[in-house]
Amino acid sequence: MSKPRLFIAGNWKMNKTSSEAVAAIAELRKDLPNKPGLEIAVCPSFLALGAALEAVKGSVIQVGSQNVHFAESGAFTGEVSCGQLKDAGISLAIIGHSERRQFFGETDDTVNKRTHAALKAGIRPITCIGETLAERQGGQTEAVLERQLSLGLAGLTPEQMEKTVLAYEPVWAIGTGVTASPQQAQEAHAFIRAKLTQLFGAATAGKVLIQYGGSVKPDNVAELMSQKDIDGALVGGASLKAAEFATLLRNAACVLS
Ligand code: PEP
Repeated sequence: MSKPRLFIAGNWKMNKTSSEAVAAIAELRKDLPNKPGLEIAVCPSFLALGAALEAVKGSVIQVGSQNVHFAESGAFTGEVSCGQLKDAGISLAIIGHSERRQFFGETDDTVNKRTHAALKAGIRPITCIGETLAERQGGQTEAVLERQLSLGLAGLTPEQMEKTVLAYEPVWAIGTGVTASPQQAQEAHAFIRAKLTQLFGAATAGKVLIQYGGSVKPDNVAELMSQKDIDGALVGGASLKAAEFATLLRNAACVLS
């Protein structure tokens, strides 16, 4: 099925120095598909955000952070506030990535607080959800998604929800080379859309962009993106090499109407 819009974001995780980020963006810019409806972002580490913003000037590429704290300021060593991000020119942030949940103690509550703080500051959140392998094998996928959505998005107005991007990332597919099949991904996305309808109403649910993440590659992106409820991708490994990411973007763009 063809789509009116797709949002593909590259999560560079703890990779690339500032100069490497600039070089990757320069290479990517040479090879970008120019298709209306295709939104593109890269999310480098905090230290490379300024250099990346300079490097994307005059292109359609957006720059996002990989996290943001919920407090305005204070004793939160190692964290970065929404105000600091906005001051640096950043209006997009990944929130609650499974690696943050797994290694840095993020919970549905902190994800909720970070999402609220971002929206209040005018930062578009990409809020991540997804089940682990044990949860999927235990038949818990829907219960986990339901909990992450209810708690993680608690208190958002429908208007705020429309501005929030969701990323469904089954943890077992992240960085493993194992991709959810297009059918498995669509099933989870349809469940998420139905839950959003319950929580925020059908009009809002229909407008929310839901990205899929988990071993998205140039050769599987088109089939994943052509699923009814998949509106984009959050891409880790395949976004690191500019040439590979450009190919992935071009292949995704073929799905656009
Ligand atoms: C991610 O980190 O969000 C991700 C989906 O990684 P990968 O594409 O490498 O699985």
